[in-house]
Amino acid sequence: MLKRKNVNTIFLLGLIVLLAISIFIPIPRILFALLAISWFLLTLCGSFFIRWNYHLDSLNSNREIAESQVAITFDDGPHPEHTPKVLSLLKRYNAKGTFFCIGKNIEKHPELLKEIIRQGHSIGNHTFSHANTFGFFGTSKVMQELNRTNELVENLTGLKMALYRPAFGVTNPSIARAVKNLEFNSIGWNVRSLDTTFRNENQVLKRITSKTEKGSIILLHDTSAKSVVVLERLLVFLENRKLESVTVDQLLQIRAYV
Ligand SMILES: [Zn+2]
Repeated sequence: MLKRKNVNTIFLLGLIVLLAISIFIPIPRILFALLAISWFLLTLCGSFFIRWNYHLDSLNSNREIAESQVAITFDDGPHPEHTPKVLSLLKRYNAKGTFFCIGKNIEKHPELLKEIIRQGHSIGNHTFSHANTFGFFGTSKVMQELNRTNELVENLTGLKMALYRPAFGVTNPSIARAVKNLEFNSIGWNVRSLDTTFRNENQVLKRITSKTEKGSIILLHDTSAKSVVVLERLLVFLENRKLESVTVDQLLQIRAYV
């Protein structure tokens, strides 16, 4: 698998070789430009596709699991309108889920966070601000964001969260350092529903069901009516396939809290 350090080393060596050759024969500038563009594109893809594990290792599924289990994860809540509907659906279908909550939303709806835990689901850290510019934050700012949300949750529930879901699925060297320093497990997915895009319920559901298998981690959001509709149909699908929905920590056999 491609890793940032290996890619950087290879491209640096490529640059040195080109420079060395250029001492003896002229090298067309386009070759240097191509090298730089390839490096940039690889780094960009590595930052956006969490499953590449390019900057840091995220846990994206559990292919080794013996039981017929999957984990549904919900990002960006808690949401006053949609999270309660998600909770009642999970209850009706006897399913458990994992909620990666945004700190500023927890501050607004602390009772919802407590209710998620009371119903036996797991929670994880999904930054404090979920700012669009999160990918440009330095290591200390990322650490501040994660610490602020963890402290908030610890004050409300006594639980110290150990799971982190990267905002937008974006990773980079600063985020990798922060996750390592704070000893979080980074949790990715192998089934991205794209439920926050223009796709309708049928398209989103088809994306999920065509990719879901034993050990899958599914990404949804508890922030829209569309996702709630998709969730109910997904739970029926899982029931028919005899796939049990468990918390992500159970699926991965790790701890959700320190
Ligand atoms: Zn998010």
